[in-house]
Amino acid sequence: MPAPHASPSPAPAAPRRVDIAIAGGGLGGLSLALALRHGLGAQARILVADPHFARGPALGDTRASAIAAGARRLLETLGVWPQVAAEAQPMLTMEITDSRLGDVARPAFLSFDGEIRSRDDATPGEPFAHMVPNAALQAALTQAAEAAGIAMVNAGVTALESAGRSARLTLDDGAAVAAELVCACDGGRSRLRSMAGIGTVGWPYGQSGIVLTVGHERDHEGKAIEHFLPAGPFAVLPLTGRRCSIVWTESTAAARRLLELPPVLFHDELEQRFGLALGAIEVLDTPRAFPLGFQMARRFVGERLALVGDAAHTIHPIAGQGLNMGLRDVAALAEAVTDAGRLGLDLGGVEVLERYQRWRRFDTLTMGVATDGLNRLFSNRSDVLRLLRDVGLGVVERLPRLKDAFIRDAAGVGGQAPKLLRGQAL
Ligand SMILES: Cc1cc2nc3c(=O)[nH]c(=O)nc-3n(C[C@H](O)[C@H](O)[C@H](O)COP(=O)(O)OP(=O)(O)OC[C@H]3O[C@@H](n4cnc5c(N)ncnc54)[C@H](O)[C@@H]3O)c2cc1C
Repeated sequence: MPAPHASPSPAPAAPRRVDIAIAGGGLGGLSLALALRHGLGAQARILVADPHFARGPALGDTRASAIAAGARRLLETLGVWPQVAAEAQPMLTMEITDSRLGDVARPAFLSFDGEIRSRDDATPGEPFAHMVPNAALQAALTQAAEAAGIAMVNAGVTALESAGRSARLTLDDGAAVAAELVCACDGGRSRLRSMAGIGTVGWPYGQSGIVLTVGHERDHEGKAIEHFLPAGPFAVLPLTGRRCSIVWTESTAAARRLLELPPVLFHDELEQRFGLALGAIEVLDTPRAFPLGFQMARRFVGERLALVGDAAHTIHPIAGQGLNMGLRDVAALAEAVTDAGRLGLDLGGVEVLERYQRWRRFDTLTMGVATDGLNRLFSNRSDVLRLLRDVGLGVVERLPRLKDAFIRDAAGVGGQAPKLLRGQAL
């Protein structure tokens, strides 16, 4: 019990008022901040909080992402693409094989040229994807957000409450922020999603993706290779120069053992899978393993809250679609919020949130189920399944229109794509 003459504790500081607060300044959060700035204009107050801003959230990330055509159009419309274009390697062809490691030749059972062919939305010769290093994209987004006057706060969100016309965030530096709309872009283990009581469905794959960059003697000519091995896919993804990014899936225990090998033995294992078609190879950075799983939030929205990117869904990287799905969320949410803003409606109101959820949930579920199915179909030793998938994919190989449809889907430009994915301003 306080002494009668004790001075009262200081009243909590008034919260900083913004229109939209974004928790998480990774690739998803910063893209969203820029898309909202683009749609709502210079007067909108947008704040992004991330505890890792001081060191740059993805600047130590040695991964590279396949940025599909739709996502590239979004980055172009937001003025970010020119900053990464010099480091973006177009995927000109893609080969898929499930040969065994000991096979002398590794024939492709499915091959694509990487160009989108579409009657409705054609940009002749547009590659369906480019490989872009995550660190380069993070640096370009950070620079663009600073230039656009987005408030970037180096702090994590520790509490979320909704109070009538605004939601209130508490940051780990003790500051409070009040916003009409809060966007959770805080990744697969989203704290905001838990604080809002939104559950998830999902399962771990018991697999990890080992990521590393390889240098090689001969040109890759823009060819990506997905080699399905019993433990999971071994993907060779072309980077600029004579370099490739590798995503090598193994059981989590095997991945750990591989990373503990002396460099010379690791190199042997790598060479067995990579082959010598591009000449001698060299490991250019420190290999890292990422545990893989499938997870989908039961709802993508809460009271004055939208979940975006990995906070809403994480999928297997087998098709290189995780970030692309996050950028589709960004495009859809920014469009819904911008339309509401123009009509003077509540930016965090139920109409905006429901429109966003309707737009994104089905597409996300379809992609999640497709990548989950692909992983199960390929990551096994069953000869029966091997035969079935070879026959199935052999059929696809002979149907050019079906192949074009797959490419359009992977490029993210078909169907009800939001404006930014079609390269249109909001
Ligand atoms: C091996 C591998 C390869 C991949 N390859 C591809 C690919 O080729 N193409 C593709 O499209 N996708 C790919 N992905 C998926 C892609 O990397 C992710 O989907 C994407 O990085 C998610 O971005 P995000 O911004 O949603 O989340 P994150 O990158 O996880 O960012 C979350 C941010 O939130 C911050 N944060 C955390 N907690 C808080 C808090 N309490 N308050 C505030 N901030 C917080 C973190 O510091 C972080 O900066 C791959 C994934 C893996 C594992």
